[in-house]
Amino acid sequence: MKHWIADCLRFGKAKGFLTYTDVNRFAVGNPELSAEEIDECLLVLEEENIEVTSEEPIQQLDMTKGSREIYHKFPIDLIEGWKGYPVRLLGPRMSECHGEPTLLVQSMPGGFVTANCSACGKKYTLKEHEFRRLQLWISCPRCKRQMSPDRLSRINSQASGNYGYVCSKCQIYVLLTDLLPRWEDIV
Ligand SMILES: [Zn+2]
Ligand SMILES: [Zn+2]
Repeated sequence: MKHWIADCLRFGKAKGFLTYTDVNRFAVGNPELSAEEIDECLLVLEEENIEVTSEEPIQQLDMTKGSREIYHKFPIDLIEGWKGYPVRLLGPRMSECHGEPTLLVQSMPGGFVTANCSACGKKYTLKEHEFRRLQLWISCPRCKRQMSPDRLSRINSQASGNYGYVCSKCQIYVLLTDLLPRWEDIV
């Protein structure tokens, strides 16, 4: 096996998956690179069950607590499709304004989760104990097992305090807000 492929494989094993950018980064150091070698590398990675994705760069968690989970961002087209889909997620309680069911939505792009009155759209905060009791099965994007709810306050400031789901086996997490439509998308 070529050195750069071995290096790429080692890096992939440590990270759990690779992007095409990662693979290219290892490949460009090799002066006699051929298309066959790239194929060979991808084959080796496949044999080792290391997925190569075309996704956007991922954000690392703050390592201070020894956590190694990696943020999984869903592809834009998947989210756009979901917004047009008629299934809605019920909030944990009826609205105080109308006594109607609430719906879980994104308060703003990349923002927090709110439970809005289905009659008028008034926003209600989703409290942590309510979040943890939501009857949602979030599948890990990699292994498809059920992920565990977690308040991701330890990650970078952008997602600080946001609600998410973690797969400890694959060491990745997703944000609940990424999975929700905005109120404007559903009215
Ligand atoms: Zn209302
Ligand atoms: Zn998983």
